Amino acid sequence: MARIRKGDTVVVLSGKDRGKSGKVLQVWPERGRALVERVNLLKHFERRSQQNPSGGVIEREHPLALAKLAAQCPRCRRGVRTGWTAAADGTKQRICRTCKETLAVAS
Ligand SMILES: [Zn+2]
Repeated sequence: MARIRKGDTVVVLSGKDRGKSGKVLQVWPERGRALVERVNLLKHFERRSQQNPSGGVIEREHPLALAKLAAQCPRCRRGVRTGWTAAADGTKQRICRTCKETLAVAS
């Protein structure tokens, strides 16, 4: 089971964006990479176009390694290790290993 899923709020543990948090926009498990909102922004030079008549420099998210990310626990308010446990009805639930709080899994 992947530690990080699309829709999760994650914290960046290392690199230039260390300490930033954001929502996961996309995950590529086979490549070990994820795209996180407002994280790992790189400047991108756009040519003038119909959509963007003035052209110029825009900032765009770039994928970063899953190993640099940890799910953010709403109670601990930091990146935590997650685990899985069975709920009363037999479904799997993701929990924070630090405080045992249930972490929602976006579907
Ligand atoms: Zn927690």
